Amino acid sequence: MHPHAAVSTSVPPPALDRYAAELAALERIDQRRRRLTVEGPQGARIVVDGREHLAFCSNDYLGLAADPRLVEAAVAAVRVHGVGSGASHLVTGHHAPHARAERALADFVGLPAALLFGTGYLANVGVLTALTGAEDAIFSDALNHASLIDGMRLSRARVVRYPHADLAALEAALAATPARTRFVVTESVFSMDGDLAPLPALLALCERHDAWLVIDDAHGFGVLGAQGRGALEHFALDSPRIVYVGTLGKAAGVHGAFVAGAPAIVETVLQRARSYIFTTASPPFLGPVIEASLAIVRAEAWRRERLRELVARFRDGLRETGLRLAASESPIQPVILGTNAAALAASRFLRERGMIVSAIRPPTVAEGTSRLRVSFSAAHTAEDVDRLVAALRELDVQGA
Ligand SMILES: *Cc1c(COP(=O)(O)O)cnc(C)c1O
Repeated sequence: MHPHAAVSTSVPPPALDRYAAELAALERIDQRRRRLTVEGPQGARIVVDGREHLAFCSNDYLGLAADPRLVEAAVAAVRVHGVGSGASHLVTGHHAPHARAERALADFVGLPAALLFGTGYLANVGVLTALTGAEDAIFSDALNHASLIDGMRLSRARVVRYPHADLAALEAALAATPARTRFVVTESVFSMDGDLAPLPALLALCERHDAWLVIDDAHGFGVLGAQGRGALEHFALDSPRIVYVGTLGKAAGVHGAFVAGAPAIVETVLQRARSYIFTTASPPFLGPVIEASLAIVRAEAWRRERLRELVARFRDGLRETGLRLAASESPIQPVILGTNAAALAASRFLRERGMIVSAIRPPTVAEGTSRLRVSFSAAHTAEDVDRLVAALRELDVQGA
Protein backbone atom coordinates (compact mmCIF):
# COMPACT_ATOMS: atom_id res chain seq x y z
CA MET A 1 0.00 0.00 0.00
CA HIS A 2 1.21 3.50 -0.83
CA PRO A 3 2.11 5.25 2.44
CA HIS A 4 -0.24 8.20 1.67
CA ALA A 5 -3.19 6.21 0.37
CA ALA A 6 -6.53 6.97 2.02
CA VAL A 7 -7.44 4.67 4.87
CA SER A 8 -10.58 2.74 4.14
CA THR A 9 -12.58 0.50 6.43
CA SER A 10 -15.45 -1.60 5.23
CA VAL A 11 -18.00 -0.41 7.83
CA PRO A 12 -19.24 3.13 7.20
CA PRO A 13 -19.28 5.27 10.37
CA PRO A 14 -22.79 5.41 11.90
CA ALA A 15 -22.93 9.20 11.54
CA LEU A 16 -23.08 8.73 7.76
CA ASP A 17 -26.46 7.07 8.21
CA ARG A 18 -27.59 9.97 10.31
CA TYR A 19 -26.63 12.55 7.67
CA ALA A 20 -28.18 10.47 4.90
CA ALA A 21 -31.41 10.23 6.90
CA GLU A 22 -31.42 13.98 7.54
CA LEU A 23 -30.91 14.69 3.84
CA ALA A 24 -33.75 12.32 2.98
CA ALA A 25 -35.98 14.15 5.47
CA LEU A 26 -35.16 17.48 3.81
CA GLU A 27 -36.06 15.92 0.48
CA ARG A 28 -39.43 14.71 1.81
CA ILE A 29 -40.46 18.19 2.98
CA ASP A 30 -39.28 19.79 -0.28
CA GLN A 31 -36.57 21.67 1.54
CA ARG A 32 -33.48 20.17 -0.05
CA ARG A 33 -31.76 22.85 -2.11
CA ARG A 34 -30.07 22.24 -5.42
CA ARG A 35 -27.58 24.46 -7.16
CA LEU A 36 -27.86 25.52 -10.75
CA THR A 37 -24.61 25.71 -12.65
CA VAL A 38 -24.48 28.81 -14.80
CA GLU A 39 -22.31 28.89 -17.90
CA GLY A 40 -21.04 32.32 -18.86
CA PRO A 41 -21.67 35.60 -17.05
CA GLN A 42 -24.51 36.75 -14.82
CA GLY A 43 -27.25 38.64 -16.66
CA ALA A 44 -30.94 38.82 -17.56
CA ARG A 45 -30.30 35.71 -19.66
CA ILE A 46 -28.18 32.89 -18.31
CA VAL A 47 -27.19 29.55 -19.75
CA VAL A 48 -28.08 26.56 -17.57
CA ASP A 49 -27.93 22.94 -18.75
CA GLY A 50 -26.85 24.15 -22.17
CA ARG A 51 -29.97 26.23 -22.65
CA GLU A 52 -30.54 29.96 -22.41
CA HIS A 53 -33.08 31.03 -19.78
CA LEU A 54 -34.58 34.33 -18.81
CA ALA A 55 -33.64 34.71 -15.15
CA PHE A 56 -35.32 36.73 -12.42
CA CYS A 57 -33.35 35.86 -9.34
CA SER A 58 -30.02 37.61 -9.21
CA ASN A 59 -29.17 40.60 -7.02
CA ASP A 60 -27.38 42.22 -9.94
CA TYR A 61 -30.05 44.92 -9.86
CA LEU A 62 -28.31 47.42 -12.11
CA GLY A 63 -27.09 44.82 -14.61
CA LEU A 64 -23.43 45.62 -13.95
CA ALA A 65 -21.97 42.20 -13.09
CA ALA A 66 -20.57 41.72 -16.58
CA ASP A 67 -20.40 45.36 -17.68
CA PRO A 68 -17.54 45.70 -20.21
CA ARG A 69 -16.20 48.79 -18.45
CA LEU A 70 -15.87 46.88 -15.19
CA VAL A 71 -14.31 43.96 -17.01
CA GLU A 72 -11.73 46.31 -18.55
CA ALA A 73 -11.02 47.90 -15.15
CA ALA A 74 -10.50 44.43 -13.68
CA VAL A 75 -8.18 43.27 -16.46
CA ALA A 76 -6.09 46.45 -16.29
CA ALA A 77 -5.84 46.23 -12.50
CA VAL A 78 -4.91 42.55 -12.54
CA ARG A 79 -1.96 43.39 -14.78
CA VAL A 80 -0.72 45.93 -12.24
CA HIS A 81 -1.64 44.33 -8.91
CA GLY A 82 -1.72 40.62 -9.65
CA VAL A 83 -4.44 38.27 -8.53
CA GLY A 84 -4.06 37.59 -4.82
CA SER A 85 -3.47 39.95 -1.90
CA GLY A 86 -1.20 37.39 -0.27
CA ALA A 87 -1.91 38.25 3.37
CA SER A 88 -4.47 39.63 5.77
CA HIS A 89 -5.04 43.38 5.99
CA LEU A 90 -3.09 43.75 9.24
CA VAL A 91 -0.02 42.00 7.85
CA THR A 92 0.89 42.92 4.25
CA GLY A 93 -2.41 42.26 2.47
CA HIS A 94 -3.64 45.86 2.62
CA HIS A 95 -2.79 47.38 -0.76
CA ALA A 96 -3.14 50.92 -2.11
CA PRO A 97 -6.26 49.99 -4.16
CA HIS A 98 -8.02 48.89 -0.94
CA ALA A 99 -7.19 52.23 0.69
CA ARG A 100 -8.42 54.19 -2.35
CA ALA A 101 -11.64 52.18 -2.53
CA GLU A 102 -12.32 52.78 1.17
CA ARG A 103 -11.96 56.54 0.70
CA ALA A 104 -14.24 56.42 -2.36
CA LEU A 105 -16.88 54.33 -0.55
CA ALA A 106 -16.94 56.60 2.52
CA ASP A 107 -17.38 59.65 0.27
CA PHE A 108 -20.02 57.87 -1.79
CA VAL A 109 -22.29 57.16 1.18
CA GLY A 110 -21.41 60.43 2.91
CA LEU A 111 -19.84 59.03 6.07
CA PRO A 112 -16.43 59.90 7.53
CA ALA A 113 -14.67 56.53 7.21
CA ALA A 114 -15.05 53.08 5.68
CA LEU A 115 -13.45 49.66 6.00
CA LEU A 116 -13.53 47.02 3.25
CA PHE A 117 -14.51 43.43 4.06
CA GLY A 118 -14.32 40.26 2.01
CA THR A 119 -18.12 39.87 1.90
CA GLY A 120 -21.25 41.26 3.52
CA TYR A 121 -21.53 38.16 5.67
CA LEU A 122 -18.09 38.84 7.12
CA ALA A 123 -18.87 42.55 7.53
CA ASN A 124 -22.06 41.93 9.50
CA VAL A 125 -20.44 39.35 11.73
CA GLY A 126 -17.46 41.66 12.20
CA VAL A 127 -19.42 44.79 13.05
CA LEU A 128 -21.69 43.17 15.60
CA THR A 129 -18.94 41.21 17.34
CA ALA A 130 -16.52 44.16 17.37
CA LEU A 131 -18.96 46.73 18.73
CA THR A 132 -20.97 44.73 21.24
CA GLY A 133 -20.37 42.35 24.12
CA ALA A 134 -22.12 40.68 27.01
CA GLU A 135 -23.05 43.98 28.74
CA ASP A 136 -24.77 45.33 25.63
CA ALA A 137 -28.20 44.85 24.10
CA ILE A 138 -29.09 44.41 20.44
CA PHE A 139 -32.61 45.04 19.14
CA SER A 140 -33.10 43.09 15.96
CA ASP A 141 -35.87 43.16 13.37
CA ALA A 142 -37.52 39.73 13.14
CA LEU A 143 -36.74 39.49 9.42
CA ASN A 144 -33.03 40.30 9.63
CA HIS A 145 -30.59 38.39 7.44
CA ALA A 146 -28.75 35.29 8.64
CA SER A 147 -25.41 37.14 8.65
CA LEU A 148 -26.78 39.66 11.16
CA ILE A 149 -28.23 36.87 13.27
CA ASP A 150 -24.91 35.01 13.31
CA GLY A 151 -23.09 38.21 14.28
CA MET A 152 -25.48 38.75 17.18
CA ARG A 153 -25.00 35.20 18.39
CA LEU A 154 -21.23 35.47 18.29
CA SER A 155 -21.32 38.86 20.04
CA ARG A 156 -22.76 37.42 23.26
CA ALA A 157 -24.86 40.57 23.62
CA ARG A 158 -28.41 40.27 24.89
CA VAL A 159 -30.62 40.06 21.78
CA VAL A 160 -34.19 41.36 21.73
CA ARG A 161 -36.04 40.43 18.56
CA TYR A 162 -38.82 42.89 17.70
CA PRO A 163 -41.68 42.12 15.29
CA HIS A 164 -40.88 43.21 11.74
CA ALA A 165 -40.74 47.04 11.47
CA ASP A 166 -42.84 47.40 14.65
CA LEU A 167 -41.77 50.77 16.06
CA ALA A 168 -44.04 50.62 19.12
CA ALA A 169 -42.72 47.22 20.15
CA LEU A 170 -39.15 48.40 19.58
CA GLU A 171 -39.69 51.53 21.66
CA ALA A 172 -41.17 49.53 24.53
CA ALA A 173 -38.22 47.14 24.43
CA LEU A 174 -35.68 49.97 24.30
CA ALA A 175 -37.29 51.69 27.27
CA ALA A 176 -37.34 48.47 29.28
CA THR A 177 -33.76 47.33 28.63
CA PRO A 178 -30.95 48.71 30.74
CA ALA A 179 -27.65 48.00 29.04
CA ARG A 180 -24.29 49.70 28.70
CA THR A 181 -24.79 50.31 24.98
CA ARG A 182 -27.85 49.63 22.83
CA PHE A 183 -27.86 48.80 19.13
CA VAL A 184 -30.86 48.66 16.82
CA VAL A 185 -30.08 46.43 13.84
CA THR A 186 -32.09 46.39 10.63
CA GLU A 187 -31.88 45.82 6.92
CA SER A 188 -32.86 48.81 4.77
CA VAL A 189 -34.60 46.89 1.97
CA PHE A 190 -35.57 43.47 3.34
CA SER A 191 -34.01 40.77 1.23
CA MET A 192 -36.91 38.35 0.95
CA ASP A 193 -39.85 40.78 1.14
CA GLY A 194 -38.52 43.85 -0.64
CA ASP A 195 -40.08 46.34 1.77
CA LEU A 196 -38.25 49.32 3.19
CA ALA A 197 -37.49 49.75 6.90
CA PRO A 198 -38.81 52.99 8.46
CA LEU A 199 -35.25 54.28 8.90
CA PRO A 200 -36.04 57.93 9.85
CA ALA A 201 -38.38 56.75 12.62
CA LEU A 202 -35.85 54.13 13.75
CA LEU A 203 -33.15 56.79 13.93
CA ALA A 204 -35.45 59.06 15.94
CA LEU A 205 -36.05 56.19 18.40
CA CYS A 206 -32.31 55.61 18.63
CA GLU A 207 -31.78 59.28 19.44
CA ARG A 208 -34.52 59.25 22.07
CA HIS A 209 -33.17 56.12 23.75
CA ASP A 210 -29.46 56.66 23.24
CA ALA A 211 -29.00 53.73 20.89
CA TRP A 212 -26.90 53.11 17.78
CA LEU A 213 -28.49 52.25 14.45
CA VAL A 214 -26.83 49.52 12.38
CA ILE A 215 -28.18 49.58 8.82
CA ASP A 216 -27.53 46.66 6.47
CA ASP A 217 -28.02 48.29 3.07
CA ALA A 218 -27.19 45.17 1.03
CA HIS A 219 -30.25 45.66 -1.18
CA GLY A 220 -30.38 49.47 -1.07
CA PHE A 221 -26.81 50.36 -2.02
CA GLY A 222 -26.82 51.35 -5.70
CA VAL A 223 -30.60 51.09 -5.91
CA LEU A 224 -31.93 53.68 -3.48
CA GLY A 225 -31.33 57.41 -3.83
CA ALA A 226 -31.18 59.61 -6.93
CA GLN A 227 -27.48 58.79 -7.34
CA GLY A 228 -27.68 55.26 -6.00
CA ARG A 229 -25.86 56.17 -2.80
CA GLY A 230 -28.27 53.97 -0.90
CA ALA A 231 -30.58 54.25 2.08
CA LEU A 232 -28.88 57.29 3.63
CA GLU A 233 -29.30 59.30 0.44
CA HIS A 234 -32.87 58.08 -0.05
CA PHE A 235 -33.96 59.23 3.41
CA ALA A 236 -31.44 62.11 3.71
CA LEU A 237 -30.13 60.59 6.94
CA ASP A 238 -27.03 61.94 8.60
CA SER A 239 -26.15 61.00 12.14
CA PRO A 240 -23.05 59.96 14.08
CA ARG A 241 -25.20 57.13 15.48
CA ILE A 242 -25.36 55.32 12.16
CA VAL A 243 -23.21 52.28 11.51
CA TYR A 244 -23.64 51.48 7.83
CA VAL A 245 -22.94 48.22 6.01
CA GLY A 246 -23.02 48.25 2.22
CA THR A 247 -22.33 45.26 0.01
CA LEU A 248 -20.63 45.33 -3.37
CA GLY A 249 -21.70 41.98 -4.82
CA LYS A 250 -25.29 43.02 -5.53
CA ALA A 251 -26.21 46.27 -7.32
CA ALA A 252 -22.54 47.31 -7.60
CA GLY A 253 -21.93 44.14 -9.62
CA VAL A 254 -18.54 43.41 -8.06
CA HIS A 255 -17.68 41.62 -4.80
CA GLY A 256 -17.09 42.49 -1.17
CA ALA A 257 -18.61 44.83 1.36
CA PHE A 258 -17.77 47.74 3.61
CA VAL A 259 -18.61 49.21 6.97
CA ALA A 260 -18.87 52.99 7.24
CA GLY A 261 -19.43 55.41 10.08
CA ALA A 262 -17.63 57.53 12.66
CA PRO A 263 -13.83 57.09 12.61
CA ALA A 264 -13.76 55.60 16.14
CA ILE A 265 -16.37 53.02 15.11
CA VAL A 266 -14.54 52.03 11.95
CA GLU A 267 -11.22 51.87 13.80
CA THR A 268 -12.78 49.69 16.52
CA VAL A 269 -14.07 47.28 13.88
CA LEU A 270 -10.59 47.19 12.31
CA GLN A 271 -8.98 46.43 15.69
CA ARG A 272 -11.48 43.84 16.88
CA ALA A 273 -13.44 42.14 14.10
CA ARG A 274 -12.09 38.61 13.80
CA SER A 275 -13.76 38.27 10.39
CA TYR A 276 -11.57 41.20 9.29
CA ILE A 277 -8.34 40.28 11.04
CA PHE A 278 -8.14 36.54 10.52
CA THR A 279 -8.83 36.33 6.82
CA THR A 280 -6.89 37.07 3.66
CA ALA A 281 -7.55 40.52 2.23
CA SER A 282 -9.66 40.53 -0.92
CA PRO A 283 -7.75 40.77 -4.22
CA PRO A 284 -6.39 44.31 -4.62
CA PHE A 285 -7.54 44.43 -8.26
CA LEU A 286 -11.11 44.70 -6.98
CA GLY A 287 -10.35 48.23 -5.74
CA PRO A 288 -10.30 49.94 -9.16
CA VAL A 289 -13.30 47.83 -10.22
CA ILE A 290 -15.27 49.08 -7.21
CA GLU A 291 -14.31 52.67 -8.03
CA ALA A 292 -15.37 52.20 -11.66
CA SER A 293 -18.65 50.72 -10.48
CA LEU A 294 -19.35 53.66 -8.17
CA ALA A 295 -18.88 56.06 -11.10
CA ILE A 296 -21.39 54.11 -13.21
CA VAL A 297 -23.87 53.72 -10.35
CA ARG A 298 -23.80 57.49 -9.77
CA ALA A 299 -23.91 58.56 -13.40
CA GLU A 300 -26.41 56.12 -14.89
CA ALA A 301 -29.63 57.02 -13.12
CA TRP A 302 -31.49 55.48 -16.07
CA ARG A 303 -30.76 52.07 -14.59
CA ARG A 304 -32.76 52.93 -11.45
CA GLU A 305 -35.48 54.51 -13.58
CA ARG A 306 -35.67 51.35 -15.70
CA LEU A 307 -36.02 49.25 -12.55
CA ARG A 308 -38.93 51.38 -11.36
CA GLU A 309 -40.66 50.96 -14.73
CA LEU A 310 -40.16 47.20 -14.74
CA VAL A 311 -41.46 46.84 -11.19
CA ALA A 312 -44.57 48.94 -11.99
CA ARG A 313 -45.20 46.88 -15.11
CA PHE A 314 -44.90 43.63 -13.20
CA ARG A 315 -47.26 44.74 -10.42
CA ASP A 316 -49.78 46.15 -12.91
CA GLY A 317 -49.64 42.94 -14.89
CA LEU A 318 -50.57 40.82 -11.88
CA ARG A 319 -53.31 43.07 -10.57
CA GLU A 320 -56.67 41.30 -10.33
CA THR A 321 -55.13 37.86 -10.15
CA GLY A 322 -55.20 35.51 -7.19
CA LEU A 323 -51.45 35.86 -6.77
CA ARG A 324 -50.22 37.35 -3.55
CA LEU A 325 -47.60 40.05 -4.01
CA ALA A 326 -45.77 41.83 -1.19
CA ALA A 327 -46.01 45.53 -0.34
CA SER A 328 -42.74 46.27 -2.10
CA GLU A 329 -41.60 49.00 -4.46
CA SER A 330 -38.09 47.65 -4.69
CA PRO A 331 -36.71 45.32 -7.39
CA ILE A 332 -37.45 42.45 -4.97
CA GLN A 333 -41.00 41.29 -5.79
CA PRO A 334 -41.91 38.08 -4.00
CA VAL A 335 -44.94 36.05 -5.03
CA ILE A 336 -46.02 34.31 -1.85
CA LEU A 337 -47.36 30.81 -2.41
CA GLY A 338 -47.43 29.24 1.06
CA THR A 339 -46.22 25.68 1.00
CA ASN A 340 -42.83 24.43 -0.11
CA ALA A 341 -44.53 22.22 -2.67
CA ALA A 342 -46.46 25.15 -4.19
CA ALA A 343 -43.33 27.29 -4.44
CA LEU A 344 -41.35 24.46 -6.02
CA ALA A 345 -44.14 23.64 -8.45
CA ALA A 346 -44.34 27.29 -9.51
CA SER A 347 -40.59 27.45 -10.00
CA ARG A 348 -40.74 24.27 -12.12
CA PHE A 349 -43.66 25.63 -14.11
CA LEU A 350 -41.63 28.71 -15.03
CA ARG A 351 -38.57 26.63 -15.78
CA GLU A 352 -40.54 24.62 -18.33
CA ARG A 353 -41.26 27.94 -20.03
CA GLY A 354 -37.59 28.92 -20.14
CA MET A 355 -37.57 31.12 -17.06
CA ILE A 356 -35.62 30.77 -13.83
CA VAL A 357 -37.09 32.10 -10.59
CA SER A 358 -35.99 30.38 -7.43
CA ALA A 359 -38.33 29.00 -4.79
CA ILE A 360 -37.42 30.41 -1.38
CA ARG A 361 -38.33 28.15 1.51
CA PRO A 362 -37.71 27.89 5.25
CA PRO A 363 -35.41 28.48 7.02
CA THR A 364 -34.76 31.48 4.76
CA VAL A 365 -38.40 32.58 5.19
CA ALA A 366 -41.03 31.71 7.80
CA GLU A 367 -42.87 28.42 7.64
CA GLY A 368 -45.96 28.71 5.41
CA THR A 369 -44.63 31.70 3.43
CA SER A 370 -42.62 29.89 0.79
CA ARG A 371 -42.40 32.02 -2.29
CA LEU A 372 -40.99 32.81 -5.65
CA ARG A 373 -38.50 35.59 -5.07
CA VAL A 374 -38.72 37.55 -8.30
CA SER A 375 -35.99 40.15 -8.66
CA PHE A 376 -35.51 42.57 -11.50
CA SER A 377 -32.42 43.98 -13.11
CA ALA A 378 -31.94 47.05 -15.29
CA ALA A 379 -30.79 44.52 -17.89
CA HIS A 380 -34.37 43.23 -18.24
CA THR A 381 -36.69 44.64 -20.89
CA ALA A 382 -40.43 45.35 -20.77
CA GLU A 383 -40.90 42.27 -22.99
CA ASP A 384 -39.05 40.13 -20.45
CA VAL A 385 -41.44 41.28 -17.73
CA ASP A 386 -44.42 40.60 -20.00
CA ARG A 387 -43.24 37.03 -20.55
CA LEU A 388 -42.98 36.46 -16.81
CA VAL A 389 -46.37 38.06 -16.15
CA ALA A 390 -48.04 35.93 -18.82
CA ALA A 391 -46.60 32.74 -17.33
CA LEU A 392 -47.60 33.72 -13.79
CA ARG A 393 -51.13 34.51 -14.96
CA GLU A 394 -51.30 31.10 -16.56
CA LEU A 395 -50.12 29.57 -13.30
CA ASP A 396 -52.77 31.50 -11.41
CA VAL A 397 -55.52 30.27 -13.73
CA GLN A 398 -54.33 26.70 -13.14
CA GLY A 399 -54.76 27.35 -9.41
CA ALA A 400 -51.30 27.84 -7.98
C1 LIG B 1 -26.53 39.24 0.62
C2 LIG B 1 -26.73 39.84 1.96
C3 LIG B 1 -25.68 39.96 2.86
C4 LIG B 1 -24.35 39.32 2.61
O1 LIG B 1 -23.61 39.96 1.65
P1 LIG B 1 -22.54 39.12 0.82
O2 LIG B 1 -21.61 40.12 0.29
O3 LIG B 1 -23.32 38.39 -0.21
O4 LIG B 1 -21.89 38.18 1.80
C5 LIG B 1 -25.89 40.64 4.04
N1 LIG B 1 -27.11 41.15 4.32
C6 LIG B 1 -28.14 41.02 3.50
C7 LIG B 1 -29.45 41.61 3.87
C8 LIG B 1 -27.99 40.35 2.29
O5 LIG B 1 -29.04 40.18 1.49
